[in-house]
Amino acid sequence: MRSAVPDWTPEAEQEFMGRVERLVAQEIGPRANEVGRSETFAWESFRALAREGVFATSFPVRYGGTEAPLRLRVRIIEAVARVCSAAASMVTGVDLSGRPIAFAAAPTLAATVMPKLASGELQSAFALTEPGAGSDVAGMSCTARPEGDAWVLNGVKRFISRATVADLFIVVARTEGTVGAKGLSAFLVDRDAAGLRVGPVQPKLGWIGIPIAEVFLDEVRVPADRMLGAEGEGFAIAQDTLVRARIGHAAMAVGRAQGAIDIAAQYAARRSTFGRRLGDHQGVQWMLAEMTTQVEAARCLVHRCAQRYDDADPQTPIYASMAKLHAADLGMRVTTDCLQLLGGNGYLQQMPLERFMRDAKLNQIGEGASEIHKTVIGRHVIRQAGSLAHPCLDLDGVDL
Ligand SMILES: Cc1cc2nc3c(=O)[nH]c(=O)nc-3n(C[C@H](O)[C@H](O)[C@H](O)COP(=O)(O)OP(=O)(O)OC[C@H]3O[C@@H](n4cnc5c(N)ncnc54)[C@H](O)[C@@H]3O)c2cc1C
Repeated sequence: MRSAVPDWTPEAEQEFMGRVERLVAQEIGPRANEVGRSETFAWESFRALAREGVFATSFPVRYGGTEAPLRLRVRIIEAVARVCSAAASMVTGVDLSGRPIAFAAAPTLAATVMPKLASGELQSAFALTEPGAGSDVAGMSCTARPEGDAWVLNGVKRFISRATVADLFIVVARTEGTVGAKGLSAFLVDRDAAGLRVGPVQPKLGWIGIPIAEVFLDEVRVPADRMLGAEGEGFAIAQDTLVRARIGHAAMAVGRAQGAIDIAAQYAARRSTFGRRLGDHQGVQWMLAEMTTQVEAARCLVHRCAQRYDDADPQTPIYASMAKLHAADLGMRVTTDCLQLLGGNGYLQQMPLERFMRDAKLNQIGEGASEIHKTVIGRHVIRQAGSLAHPCLDLDGVDL
């Protein structure tokens, strides 16, 4: 578990958040509805985030970054997700597909690539999922075979975000003849490597503005020094980066849910039914009260989890699962209920809430589906139970 380098003062964090809020209000927010209608990469949002130094906050200073603590990163992600999931997913995606290079690539390779990723000049994509291996990462069948001073990759990667615009791919593959998680290794592959092909954009429900596509690898030769970490470390590299990504997904779900409540509240303060403002009906007030309270509770969980990460707490992964599970499921409920508050208007594309609702679904699927996180958390609870001794419980006298 790597911690970030929290070399940021509270004043510096506040100042940076001010810049992010301005960016959200003046550029990302106003174009979010339009971004949400076209499955082309939202370059303007990407360039604006790059210009304001948002991507740099993921990476070490030695590679041109400004590495921010995760407690600040979750605030940034929330602020962006409050208006635009595509832009927020750029903030989490650049982190997910860049940090393995910063921390596991050979230093000369990292020094060449990282400053360009931090500035947004280059983009990398994280290619883990396969047609036969999504939740079950260890079941992956993409292969890596040693040949001279290179590895030769074969296989298909599926659902790869930003594949159509990425300059580089982090490809996780199984070294030939291995089984299970220990046989996985990670490689940095150039987009123009012979034998690598990106398929057409796959139209989808939400997160419009961040296209996904398949990546086909047919006898792709990757120089040996492009392996990230050592042979067999691919799963560990993926797990480490996925912990951050899960906390990021949770922050995104919280930010979007907050945005949905803000929109619904604004609407309820203007719209009238039965001779009163919608917001004056007690039933509506209770809905808003419950949603606001639940989102604030989820925010606390996410921020606490980010602080655990910054403190290098070894329990962070399990709390990341909890934060992701809770915030993603809550985000789906809240965006659905907020749309309900807008009635027929909520159902129109002219209004942003149908986009928020469609976007919320992916947080329950990506970076570990909710069911997977429940399984992980449930196993953890049962494992912990072995060392519990509740003072009110005496099982010795009970016939079990
Ligand atoms: C828009 C989008 C962007 C993505 N971006 C990327 C990317 O950039 N890089 C990348 O590598 N991947 C990416 N993914 C893939 C994503 O991470 C996977 O879709 C996700 O991990 C689920 O895998 P799967 O789709 O194969 O579902 P499966 O593993 O087939 O699971 C299907 C469903 O079954 C249930 N389920 C599965 N296993 C269990 C179990 N053990 N117990 C109970 N229920 C279970 C869950 O509800 C799950 O949603 C993206 C996906 C989407 C849709």
